[in-house]
Amino acid sequence: MASASIEEKIERGAGLATADGGEPKAEYGFLEEVRSIPGGEGVDLCIQCGTCTGSCPNANEMDHTPRELIAMIRAGMRDQVLSSNSMWYCASCYLCTVRCPRGVKYTDLMYVLKNLAWQSKMAKRGNRPLAMARSFVDVLNRFGRVHEATMLGVYYFRTNPLTALPLAPIGIGLLTHGRLPLFPHRIKNQAQLQTIVRKAQELGGISQ
Ligand code: SF4
Ligand code: SF4
Repeated sequence: MASASIEEKIERGAGLATADGGEPKAEYGFLEEVRSIPGGEGVDLCIQCGTCTGSCPNANEMDHTPRELIAMIRAGMRDQVLSSNSMWYCASCYLCTVRCPRGVKYTDLMYVLKNLAWQSKMAKRGNRPLAMARSFVDVLNRFGRVHEATMLGVYYFRTNPLTALPLAPIGIGLLTHGRLPLFPHRIKNQAQLQTIVRKAQELGGISQ
């Protein structure tokens, strides 16, 4: 039998909505996987109203909108969800979370998807938000606080150094006006912070 199309799968998944208060059928393993992680329980509550998508400032940059992502999770579309750019374009602004009529903590769900994508090695290469997140963690781990010039240097090295060229005049202006420190400051007891970061990485956080 031919496998169901993406649209058919979404349609079946969206049909699992629990607006009537009934228990959704865990028809697909991915749905079970997401809802079992703290922050992922909200997928059972969604009524597909689209308020999250209408509120999201970055929805137009996403491969799949927030409303669509939940339908795809319910449809068991693990690969398509985890290889998409949607969660990486989430700015954690919480608009979707405060406006959702069903109380879905959507921002938390985005973090669940980021972690699953990272752990499953399905985050695409050249993923700029992920490169920024990794650069942030690396610089924090090294100095104990963010040093913007170093972080941006690492970020552009990881993505495309040439794209930094148009920003050079801005960087020079910030440096000459003392708005961008040339050298990083290190915190005291940096080893303690590194222990925390290492533990977070062992638990599945973003790492090298
Ligand atoms: S606003 Fe809430 S209920 Fe509506 S589609 Fe988004 S997550 Fe689902
Ligand atoms: S928290 Fe993320 S998904 Fe929600 S509205 Fe903001 S950017 Fe969009």
